[in-house]
Amino acid sequence: MKTFEVKAKVEELKYDELNSKELELVRLAKEATSRSYAPYSNFRVGAAILLSNGEIITGANQENAAYPSGTCAERSACYYAGATYPDAKFEAIAIAARGTDGEFVDEPCSPCGACRQALLQYELLAGKGVKTLLVGRDRIYRLESIRSILPFAFTEF
Ligand SMILES: [Zn+2]
Repeated sequence: MKTFEVKAKVEELKYDELNSKELELVRLAKEATSRSYAPYSNFRVGAAILLSNGEIITGANQENAAYPSGTCAERSACYYAGATYPDAKFEAIAIAARGTDGEFVDEPCSPCGACRQALLQYELLAGKGVKTLLVGRDRIYRLESIRSILPFAFTEF
């Protein structure tokens, strides 16, 4: 038997350690939570994606009475970006969330498995890692790529 570990490099930063572009992306992701439609979970998520053409696309989770019909903020943003600017490459994404108390979550919000898979596809199209900012109340986790948090992705088989 052979054993190996899968590791992800995560940088934990304070807000004042982000550059101005990162701060703007975080601000827009947090703002996007206000456009969430989450009457069932009351968990409001926002995402902001910076594209290679300079555009920033935002998305928010959209729930539905038929639960699986809804979608996450990350996928609403990435599919809109792909459908609107098919030639642009993803550069970075920020993801923020407000919990059932309406406050931004303390623990940086991480994308679900389905969103990691969807975002990875755009990362592969970009040909390089998509910088990922997971937003918490007082700190941000910065990752160099989506791949780093999706080992053994479906596209690798
Ligand atoms: Zn998701």
